[in-house]
Amino acid sequence: MEMDSGDRVGGGDSPASDASSGASAGVKVRVDAVVVSDLSDAALRRRLAEIGRATSALAALRSETLRELTRRTDAATAEQTAKDTLRIPGRAARSDVKLSVALGDLDATRSGLEEGTIPDGHAQLIARASTEGSIDEAWLAERAQREGYDQFRRTVARHQAEASSDDGASLLERQRQARSGKIFTSRHDGMVVLNAQFDPVAGARLATVIAAAERRLYSNEDPKSRPSHPQRTADAIAMLMLEPDTARPVGMSLLVVADYDAVNHRLTNARLSDGTPIPIGEIGRIAADAQVLPAIFNHATGDLRMGRSRRTATELQRAALALRDQGCIGCDVSPDYCRAHHVIEWQHGGRTDYDNLVLVCNDCHHKIHDHDHTVEHKPGTSRYELCSPARPATGDSTVPRAPPA
Ligand SMILES: [Zn+2]
Repeated sequence: MEMDSGDRVGGGDSPASDASSGASAGVKVRVDAVVVSDLSDAALRRRLAEIGRATSALAALRSETLRELTRRTDAATAEQTAKDTLRIPGRAARSDVKLSVALGDLDATRSGLEEGTIPDGHAQLIARASTEGSIDEAWLAERAQREGYDQFRRTVARHQAEASSDDGASLLERQRQARSGKIFTSRHDGMVVLNAQFDPVAGARLATVIAAAERRLYSNEDPKSRPSHPQRTADAIAMLMLEPDTARPVGMSLLVVADYDAVNHRLTNARLSDGTPIPIGEIGRIAADAQVLPAIFNHATGDLRMGRSRRTATELQRAALALRDQGCIGCDVSPDYCRAHHVIEWQHGGRTDYDNLVLVCNDCHHKIHDHDHTVEHKPGTSRYELCSPARPATGDSTVPRAPPA
């Protein structure tokens, strides 16, 4: 596949130097056809990176074309053309056209996309944020070049909250207004689909309750015939709706976190456990609900060291681990599906301390106990990673497995 807006993909009557609507100045990303079975692992990885850059460059060309179509006609016509020509769903066409038009004003993002240094998904996040309020586009485009998708999604959310004059309150309000849901029977396979979108706070509360129901289902399953994770999620949702009395979880239903600024005696940096920022005012609003656990962190971590006084992690420890590990250290699954595992095991004298605990999901926990996976400290960080017997730690192997006491 070769792309060169001058004469191949972009080929047409308009020269690439026409800059009227941000025309790309000659995108050149080339991926040759090869016999992939002949490539080394490293060459395969390099090839995948090249294909990633080419995909971005292609997205830039598509966006440029949709923008020009919109300029000549209107958004509705461009959408219809995209839907018919690219044969994509109407919803995708609408979003494509909207974000393509937004990209027209985002110079740094557009050139990163053209050069293949900003992936399409990252560019879409920036374009969407630009339609929701004012952003520092150059700063976001710079971050987009080096952050993974999930990290960048949080960066954008945090930036939107900071850039807003009201600590993200109006953004959250807009997200609340954008809630939607529908129930329909799929024409494709006859399955009934429940589809709903919520603002981050309401969504996190629902996700926590569903995860609690899943944990309960998991503990009652026959280990020899477990359903898949998506099947269990469907079962949990059905149980919550059809048997609300039995399914209602006890204990916390949402974790919100903030830092305490001891100098100014105020809370700052309010967020959900996955790092999604929320307006500080939300803490007061939702903390009135007994099912919300507000965790406030400052320098004191005494509460995070339970030593040998108890075997299981406290809710506060789980909160702190959710923030540090962001999910299972083996597979990144959400903290809601994880348990706190002792790095030095309890039966070997391990302590129930923050720095001797890691979050692992049930599957990864099983790998540690039955398949010789090990928990390794990531040097220079307070974090850990799960290593298979075949794959050594990414870090310095001279670092002791146990954290400093
Ligand atoms: Zn896992």
